[in-house]
Amino acid sequence: MDMPVPDTRILSGKDRIVARLVATLGAGGVIHDPAETRAYECDALTAYKCPPLAVVLPRSTDEVADVLRVCHEEDIPVVPRGAGTSLAGGALPTADAVILGVARMSDVLETDYDNRFIRVQAGRTNLSVSTAVEEAGFFYAPDPSSQLACAIAGNIAMNSGGAHCLKYGVTTNNLLGLTMVLMDGTVVELGGPYLEPAGLDLLGLVCGSEGQLGVVTEATLRILPRPEGARPVLIGFDSNEVAGACVSDIIKAGVLPVAIEFMDRPCIRATEAFAGAGYPDCEALLIVEVEGSAEEIDAQLELICGIARRHDPVELRESRSEEESARIWLGRKSAFGAMGQINDYMCLDGTIPVSQLPHVLKRIGEMSEHFGLAVGNVFHAGDGNMHPLILFDANRPGDLETCEAFGAEILKLCVEVGGCLTGEHGVGIEKRDLMGVQFSAADMKAQMRVKDVFDPKWLLNPAKVFPLDVSAPHRAGAA
Ligand SMILES: Cc1cc2nc3c(=O)[nH]c(=O)nc-3n(C[C@H](O)[C@H](O)[C@H](O)COP(=O)(O)OP(=O)(O)OC[C@H]3O[C@@H](n4cnc5c(N)ncnc54)[C@H](O)[C@@H]3O)c2cc1C
Repeated sequence: MDMPVPDTRILSGKDRIVARLVATLGAGGVIHDPAETRAYECDALTAYKCPPLAVVLPRSTDEVADVLRVCHEEDIPVVPRGAGTSLAGGALPTADAVILGVARMSDVLETDYDNRFIRVQAGRTNLSVSTAVEEAGFFYAPDPSSQLACAIAGNIAMNSGGAHCLKYGVTTNNLLGLTMVLMDGTVVELGGPYLEPAGLDLLGLVCGSEGQLGVVTEATLRILPRPEGARPVLIGFDSNEVAGACVSDIIKAGVLPVAIEFMDRPCIRATEAFAGAGYPDCEALLIVEVEGSAEEIDAQLELICGIARRHDPVELRESRSEEESARIWLGRKSAFGAMGQINDYMCLDGTIPVSQLPHVLKRIGEMSEHFGLAVGNVFHAGDGNMHPLILFDANRPGDLETCEAFGAEILKLCVEVGGCLTGEHGVGIEKRDLMGVQFSAADMKAQMRVKDVFDPKWLLNPAKVFPLDVSAPHRAGAA
C-alpha cells in the first residue's frame, strides 16, 4: 500500500512540536514515547501499520480547536481517531502525523425524551448511547457489531450501519446535528435537535466523510422508543444461492423485517465451534428478525416462514423465548471473532442489489478456488451489504497480496452488478486505489474540491479515500 513519504522537517522537529502540544493540553493529554504511540499504529485493519509522531487526547471542543490551531500553524497532518475499530484503515496514521483521539470525550450533554434526542460528546461508544436511555424505554438504532467499542465519532465519519439498519437506516438517518472543528480551529455547528435543518445540508456531507473535512466533537442523535417485542426465525438451506433467492423474495414481498442476516457454511462451522449457538450443519443460514406487538410479530413471521418454505429449507426455527432469541443471535454476533480464531482475515464491505445475491455468492465461490484462499460470508443480506471474510496467513509470503487481489475482484464485481465499493466500512486506505472503478475522474474531482474548501492544506487524515496520484495536484495546492 503506497503511503506519502513522511515530512523530515516534522520528524526532526518532534521535540519542539511535542512541547507545543504539551503546553496546549498538559502532559497528561499527549502521548509521544514510541513504546506508547505503538498502540495507535493501526486500527482493526491490522495488515497496515505505522506509529504516529504523537497522540493527543483532548477533553472538549475547545481543546480540540486549540490542538488543531497548533497543527495548522505547523503544517502537521492530523488523523482523527475514535476507538480504532475501522476495518478500512481509516484511522491508520502516517509517521509525521498527530493522532487526535476523542476517547476522553464521552459525556452525555443533554437528553430530551419529549423531543426524542440525546446530545453526546463524540467519543462516547455506540452501545453506551443506548444504555444511557434504556431505562426510559428508548434506544439508539444504528448497531454496528463493534458497538461495544466503536465511538459515535467513527460511526459518523464512516456512516456506519449494523444488523438492524434494514428497518431504521444507517447513521445518517439517525443523526440530527453535530459540532465540528475545522483544521484551522474554527468551530462550526451543523443541524440541531430538529428534523430538517435550513441552509445547505452540510450534515449529510460530513456524515460519511471519513475524517477528511473536520474533527467531530459532539453529536445530537435521534433516539426511538423501544419496540414492544422482537422475535427472530432461523432458516437453514442447503445452498447459498437458494438462501440468496429467499432473501430476495422476502424483500420483494413488501414485509420489512428489522434484520436479515446471512451466514455461509465456513462461518456457520467456525461459529458453532466458537460459540455453540446450536446452528444446524448446512450450507447457508438466515436470521430474520421482526418486531412489534405480539400480533404484528406473528403475522410477519407467518408471511416470512411461508416464503422460506417455498425454498425447501433444511431448518426453520422460530424463536419462542428470550433465551432462544439470544442464542440465535449469539452465533451471528460471534462470527467475526470465530473466523479470527481460524486465521487472519480481511473483511470486505461491498453492496449489491439484493436480487444479485445468488449470482455474486456463486462468483465469490469460484474466485475463492481461483485465488486459493478460503472465504466465509456473513453479512446484512436484507440491504445487500456483503461482508466476505477472506482468510489468509499474514506470516506466509505473498498471502496478503493474493488476499488484496481477491478482495479487489470481489469489489469490482459488486460495482459491475450495480452495487458499490462500500456499504458501511468506508473507503479508508483499503479501497482507496479502487475508487476509479466506481467514480469517473470528474466525480473524484468534485469530491476533492469539497475537501479543498474545508481543508485547503489537505492536512486532515492523509492518504485516505482518494488515490495518491489523483489527489497529488490538490495536496500540492495546484488544482
Ligand atoms: C468486529 C468488528 C465488527 C464491525 N461491525 C461493523 C458493522 O456491523 N457495521 C459497521 O458499519 N461497521 C462495523 N465495523 C467497523 C467499525 O467498527 C466502524 O467503521 C466504526 O464506525 C468505527 O468507529 P471507531 O470509533 O472505531 O472509528 P475509528 O476506527 O477510530 O475511525 C474511523 C474513521 O473515522 C474517522 N474519525 C474518527 N473520529 C473522528 C472525529 N472525531 N472526527 C472526524 N473523523 C473521525 C477516522 O479518521 C477514520 O477515518 C466493525 C469493526 C469490527 C472490528
